[in-house]
Amino acid sequence: MPETIYTIDMLIQKILDGEKPYDLDKIIEAYKFAESAHKGQKRSSGEPYISHPVAVAYILIELGMDTDTICAAMLHDVVEDTDITLDMVAGSFGDDVAMLVDGVTKLTKMSLSHEEMQAENVRKMLLAMSKDVRVIIIKLCDRLHNMRTLKFTPLYKQREKALETMNVYAPLAHRLGIRAVKDELEDLAFFYLDGYAYAEIEHILEIGKDAREEFITTIKERVSARLEKEEFTTKPQVDGRVKTIYGIYKKIFVDHKSIDQIYDKYAIRVIVDSINECYNVLGIIHDMFKPIPNRFKDYISTPKANMYQSLHTTVLGREGIPFEVQIRTWDMHYTAEYGIAAHWKYKEGIQGKDKLETRLAWIRQVLEAQKESDDAEEIVRTIKNDLSIDEVFAFTPKGDMISLPAGSTVIDFAYKIHTQVGNRMVGAKVDGKMVRLDYRLQTGEIVEILTTKAPDHGPGRDWLDIAKTNEAKSKIRSWFKRERHDENVAQGKAMLENEFRRNRMNIPSDEMDSFLHDELERKQCASVDDYYAKIGYGGLFISKIMPRLKERYVKLFSTNNESVPAVSETSSKTLHKSMQGIIVEGIDNCLVKFSQCCNPLPGEPVVGFVTRGHGVSVHKTDCVNYISSLRDSENASRWVKCRWADAHKAEYRTTLDIVGYDRNGLLMDVCRIFADMRVTLNQVTARETKGGNANIMVTFNTSGVDQLNVITNKISGLAGILSIERTGK
Ligand code: MN
Repeated sequence: MPETIYTIDMLIQKILDGEKPYDLDKIIEAYKFAESAHKGQKRSSGEPYISHPVAVAYILIELGMDTDTICAAMLHDVVEDTDITLDMVAGSFGDDVAMLVDGVTKLTKMSLSHEEMQAENVRKMLLAMSKDVRVIIIKLCDRLHNMRTLKFTPLYKQREKALETMNVYAPLAHRLGIRAVKDELEDLAFFYLDGYAYAEIEHILEIGKDAREEFITTIKERVSARLEKEEFTTKPQVDGRVKTIYGIYKKIFVDHKSIDQIYDKYAIRVIVDSINECYNVLGIIHDMFKPIPNRFKDYISTPKANMYQSLHTTVLGREGIPFEVQIRTWDMHYTAEYGIAAHWKYKEGIQGKDKLETRLAWIRQVLEAQKESDDAEEIVRTIKNDLSIDEVFAFTPKGDMISLPAGSTVIDFAYKIHTQVGNRMVGAKVDGKMVRLDYRLQTGEIVEILTTKAPDHGPGRDWLDIAKTNEAKSKIRSWFKRERHDENVAQGKAMLENEFRRNRMNIPSDEMDSFLHDELERKQCASVDDYYAKIGYGGLFISKIMPRLKERYVKLFSTNNESVPAVSETSSKTLHKSMQGIIVEGIDNCLVKFSQCCNPLPGEPVVGFVTRGHGVSVHKTDCVNYISSLRDSENASRWVKCRWADAHKAEYRTTLDIVGYDRNGLLMDVCRIFADMRVTLNQVTARETKGGNANIMVTFNTSGVDQLNVITNKISGLAGILSIERTGK
């Protein structure tokens, strides 16, 4: 990869050749300022340092960014690397330029590499972006030039920078729709991450190069000639397009396609003036060539989340070689190539403001979603998920389109519509059929969310594991935070106490407050209960806070540590009253939950499992999971004795798995039995099974085995019922 050295003369020429008006004097002044500031400094390549900011400014001119952005690019390293202060920049070039330089400097200071990546850093980056997205565009171009010249940096740094580029910067460029920058960042990063694969694909492409170029040229000529015979506002532009090396790599190694199966390896692009003309061209193309079924995508009526719009179709050319045709308007073309930067480049031509707002809305969403979390790794995961994964488009029954990351469930869909729709959801239908809550949506499906008006209904804690998007997860978490304060306090307390027990940390209860005092301040909790609650709803992760607590414990209590017996041993002889009618031997006031696998009911013999972080999970003594886990010595030691508290009046959640002939009204008959008995349903799902039967899953609260027997008897009396089972037996 030969590297161009950009000079100020080339940059001035570039501006003069373009149509966009720039304040050339200001840009040259910024150049002189930066040049004297960096005087004597050299890049690793041996070039004078100033060549770097000039190159970054040059790339930004190609993107069509404004004068202040170009000046800021020229000055982007002076505050970091020289004696120049921000005030001096502001004095010479104004507050706007200074603000941009400040933003880039702050981003440069923080490391995004995997181990060191801190939540606070990501938050800063997103904040900078939502304040003025030009900061990020400069940063992307800065990174692009650094990647172009990466061969001059030490080997250990190359991999680190390449990884960071692939994980953070390329997805960011994709999300902002700046295709040219994204493609080049990906190819460069890929070159340093997997040089062998890069060379291999380059080689494969090289072999057929002449034939491929000839093929594309012929197609282009045929299409152009045919379009000339039709009426268009202006002559359509027909381009050939080469897929990027990393793009081909993904198809081969990630999607396991052979090089021959990559249909869009060959592609042409037709650009016209209006949407009507796009569909005209599509008709002409399908008339000229045989379309391949299921390869037509209409991103004009359903744009991608990064605002990309085009018609895509794959057709068969000469000798049956497939190729892709992309059809779009000029407006869509600018958006596809320049993304958010098109706002500056073609400000007057398109409704830049609306598009800018849509893109920035996403950034705000991510910021909003991560307010709840202190866990850096989780935020990194979110950014990667939300940024890089493909989207699916599903529809509400009214036809409104909802776009979600691929792999999203009906839970994500519900929360995307509205927080209240999510919180009140009891089930969902996809294309008219009941589905399970973990059903993964596909593009084009119509999703109907079934809700309840029951006042205390809310999401299940297991939804946190099912939901895919951070938006849904954070809404679920904040519901628990708000609605279940007491439960969160109890759960958080139990989680922490279990962890103390596991670590044999024996803290006298009257010293707990002072023991935790520093932690409360650090995590901005007003009281110990607040602190427990935060752990309970997942705002604090036990694994993250334990190291500090252990350290503190050793400091305060370790003098006679050896003589302090572990908690579990001293208290194991006493029984304590606990929540939900279960008495757990040896654990004081802990949170109890009933296992999903066997759902024990009052009267049945039970045993408890001390989970990591979720209290005690109660199983039936004949549960297969209990029996099999006894073979594993590490797990076996975590079982504790449990029994039902006699006088406790409470409700227990259980699920019935019902199979019957798929007849009209079956679901309604089943639901009516519950309604007649005044039993509240928590969740109902129904689906057709392979043999033409219907499978209905009903989750509800029952007072115990007696009531459950009545219910099952009534259901088995219905016409067409084949079997009823409690799930997970
Ligand atoms: Mn730089």
